[in-house]
Amino acid sequence: MKVEYGFPNIPELANVSVIVERRGEKTLTSILGPCSTLHRFIIKRYFAFHNKLGAIYQTDTGNVYSMYIPEFPSLAHNRMLEAFLISKVFKRPAPFAATIGVSAKCQFHCVHCSAAGRPANIPEMSTAEIKRVVGECIDMGITNITFTGGEPLLREDLETCIRAVPTEKAVCLIFTNGQLMTAERAKSLKAAGLFGVHISIDSPDPEINDGLRGARGALKGVRDAVENARNAGLLVGLSTYVTKQAVYLHSIREIAELCSQWGVNELTVFDAIQTGRLNGLKTHQLNRLSRFVLLRDNWVLNRKYKNKPRVVTQTWTNTAWGFARYIGCLAANLQFHITAQGDFAPCDFTPLSFGNIRETPVKELWDKLLVHPGYKSFSQKCRMQDKSFRGKYIETIPEDADLPYNIRLLD
Ligand code: SF4
Repeated sequence: MKVEYGFPNIPELANVSVIVERRGEKTLTSILGPCSTLHRFIIKRYFAFHNKLGAIYQTDTGNVYSMYIPEFPSLAHNRMLEAFLISKVFKRPAPFAATIGVSAKCQFHCVHCSAAGRPANIPEMSTAEIKRVVGECIDMGITNITFTGGEPLLREDLETCIRAVPTEKAVCLIFTNGQLMTAERAKSLKAAGLFGVHISIDSPDPEINDGLRGARGALKGVRDAVENARNAGLLVGLSTYVTKQAVYLHSIREIAELCSQWGVNELTVFDAIQTGRLNGLKTHQLNRLSRFVLLRDNWVLNRKYKNKPRVVTQTWTNTAWGFARYIGCLAANLQFHITAQGDFAPCDFTPLSFGNIRETPVKELWDKLLVHPGYKSFSQKCRMQDKSFRGKYIETIPEDADLPYNIRLLD
């Protein structure tokens, strides 16, 4: 399979094309047209980096290097690479991922829920609103639409929302607790065009996991969901988070082992962020030493499991010892979030609103975010874990306020 990539939105590369070809687990490239040595080097390095990582999955037509990125080669990946180059090489932030809350409800009551504090009296976005938002995101160049919640599987029209994502332009994923992922639902999600599912897990120990989720049988539900999703042909990831204490207990080692036994493609490990129900729990937040220990585990596990599963830690993307120079805080950089009630937030974990899609187009809200003093400069660090950012914009949110809080009231 060969695809010719072009970069029509980058004047400097407008006459350049890259022939991208899948050859087994590798992706080969040839660059045609007038391309500077520097840009040639960056494009080659980008593909060499993924070849070195190795594919986590192979479809009939291409290689998947991460669930967050469309398969190589594909037109959707061409769009993603273009957005990445615009952002990282030409320094004009161009998002390629949008997380969209589609349900404010959930059957669980997790101790770490980032959606806690959202008002219950404002209606969730309708099917038509979600379809419109998806269309606006696609027009902005987004290549990864991830539906989140609450719990997205509680929405009966989820398949309609998924169908709104054109598969030739973007991949669609969901973050779910997995409890409603029956074999039939998994097949129906796949038929609607879903690329993959991230299923959340807190511990490989059923007692601990179910206790943190506030529901008996939750871990068994995750196990069943993984099986049903795999059988339906979906890519399957597990997602978890680590506190400082969990890092020192090396909790991700056991979860990675579970992923390996269950045939999970990717394990995403978020930092414990003081937001939602974890707000104020300063002692849980990672520090320099725990980040170092976590990165070491990350490295060891990826060597051990050789991409079955691939382990991806948030810490890797936003600490200087990892990849922060290239990725950093995703907010106002590569990603944004829209809550189930239509509020535009910098990310899923940030309880700040820049306006609502019911009144303002998504692109305008994104542009507003980019010029805000808290977001206009690139941040390597996770802003939600940055003391000075929190002091200015998070700890000043009144205690009883509905979230996300209108940032204008803090400026
Ligand atoms: S503040 Fe930045 S790094 Fe932190 S969770 Fe949000 S996007 Fe990710």
